[in-house]
Amino acid sequence: MRGFFICLAALMALALPASASASQRPSPGSAGIGDRLFPTLGNGGYDVQHYDLDLRYATASPAQGIDGTVTILARATQSLSRFDLDFAGDSVGSVSVNGRAATFARDGEELVITPRAPLPDGRAFVVQVSHYTAHPREPDPNVLLSTAFFTTPDGSATAGQPDSTHVFLPSNDHPRDKASFTIRFDVPAGTTAIANGVKVSQTTSGGRTRYAFLQRQPMATELLQLAVGRYDTISRGVHDGIIVRDAIAPSLATLLSDKLPTELTHLDWMKDHVGDYPFDAYGSLVVDATLGFALETQTLSLFDKPWFDGTYGGRGIWEPTMVHELSHMWFGDSVAPYSWDDVWLNEGHATWYEWSWAAEHGELGEDIGIPGFDDTMRAVYNISDLLRAEDGPVGRPLSGEASQLFSVQVYWGGALVLYALRQQIGDAAFQRLERAWVSRHRDGVASTQDFIALASKVSGQDLTAFLNDWVYGTKTPPMPGHPDWTVAPAGAGARTLAAPQQALLARAKR
Ligand SMILES: [Zn+2]
Repeated sequence: MRGFFICLAALMALALPASASASQRPSPGSAGIGDRLFPTLGNGGYDVQHYDLDLRYATASPAQGIDGTVTILARATQSLSRFDLDFAGDSVGSVSVNGRAATFARDGEELVITPRAPLPDGRAFVVQVSHYTAHPREPDPNVLLSTAFFTTPDGSATAGQPDSTHVFLPSNDHPRDKASFTIRFDVPAGTTAIANGVKVSQTTSGGRTRYAFLQRQPMATELLQLAVGRYDTISRGVHDGIIVRDAIAPSLATLLSDKLPTELTHLDWMKDHVGDYPFDAYGSLVVDATLGFALETQTLSLFDKPWFDGTYGGRGIWEPTMVHELSHMWFGDSVAPYSWDDVWLNEGHATWYEWSWAAEHGELGEDIGIPGFDDTMRAVYNISDLLRAEDGPVGRPLSGEASQLFSVQVYWGGALVLYALRQQIGDAAFQRLERAWVSRHRDGVASTQDFIALASKVSGQDLTAFLNDWVYGTKTPPMPGHPDWTVAPAGAGARTLAAPQQALLARAKR
C-alpha cells in the first residue's frame, strides 16, 4: 500500500523557501553536532526531516549483511559547499544529492559529501546513499554495548545507543536531529522482518518478501530497530488505541507466554502516571542471546533472554525492567536528550518509574535489594558523594564511555535528583511537572536547562540554583525534608558502608 508512504517529492514541495540572502558564502557543514562527550557525532549545517531505508538481506543467514540504500530529506541550516553524514559500515556504492551524482570520501567515521552545486541555506535537499553495506557481529556480553548490529541464533537485530547506529546506517547520528522513518526490507520468503512503528505492507513474490514500516513520529537514530530472521510475531490487538505486538525468538515462546502480556497493564499504569502514550505501537522484541542489557528502541523495546529465564533474577527483575523500557517511550524517545550530558533525564526518569512500579507491586526488594522506596533513596543518597567522585556529577559524566555514560550515577543519581525535587516542590507539583514535560516536549528534544525552567514554572519556585547543585555539583546537597540523612565520604570507599549500601554498590558493578 504505497499510499501510506511519505513521498519525498511532496515533502520537498512543502519545504520552506530559502531564508538566507543569496550572498551568503557557502561553507562546509561541521563534522560534529556539538556534543561535549562525542565531538564528531552528528553533523552541522542541516536538519534531517525523513529517512527512507531500503534494505536487502540476500539470504536467510543470521550473519547476513545489509545491501542498503537510504534516501534522506533534509533542510540546510547554512549555505553548504559540502556536508557530512556519519557512517562506519563496510562500503558505499554511490551518493547523489537532489538526483545528481555527488562526490564523496570517507574520513574516519565521516562520509564527506560534496554536491555539484552549493545548497542554499533554508532549502530542502535530498541525499541518497546507494548500495552501502554493513554486516552484523556476534555480541559480546562482557563488553557493554559492544555490538550495534548483532547476530542471534535466529537472525540479527540492532542496538545503536548511544553512538553506533551509523555502523549500519549513513545518518546524522545524534538524538538532537530526530526525523520520521520509512523502513523497507527485502528478505527471502520465510524470513520475518520487524522495525519501529507500524507495518504498512507485506508482499511475497518470486521467493522474496517485502515489508514496509512507518515510524511517523520523529525518532532519534539511536532508537532504530531492524530485526530480521526467524522471529515469531505476536499480535495483542489494539489496546487503548495502541497497536501492541511482540517479536520473539521461536525458542522462547513457552518461557515468555505468561510474561510479555503484562506489558498491557504496564501501559495502563504509565498512562495513569504521565498521560497518553506518545506513539502508534508498542511491544517487546526478545532475542535468544545474551547482550547484558535491554534497550528502548522506539515502539519496540529490545530484551535478551536472561531477563526472563532467571539468569538476572525472577519476576522482581524482569517486570520492573519491562516498565523501565516502556517508560523510556515518554522519557528518552518521545522527549529526546539535547546532548548526551542530558541522558540522566532518560535514565533518571526510567529508574524512577521502574522503582515506583516495583515498590507498588512488592517487587522492589528483588529489583534493587531494599523493599521500601524511601529506604532505597536514603541508601542511594548515602553513597552519592562516592558516585559523584567515581562517575562525575549526574549531568556531567566523566566520559562518553558506556561505563560512565550509563553509570549507576546516571540511573540512581538521576532518580535521586527527581526525589530531591519532589521533596522540594511537593508531590502534586511534581506530578504536574512530569505530565507537562512529556506533553510540552512531545516528539521533540529537550535539555536539562529546559527541565529546570519547566520545573520552576510549574512549581512557582525558582529552582535554578537548587537543581544546578543537584545535577552538576561535585558534592551532594542536603536532602529537603530529611535532615537526618547522611552522606558517606567519597574517600572512604565502599568497605566502610553499611550493608544496604554495599548491596547497592554490588548491583551497580554487575
Ligand atoms: Zn534505561
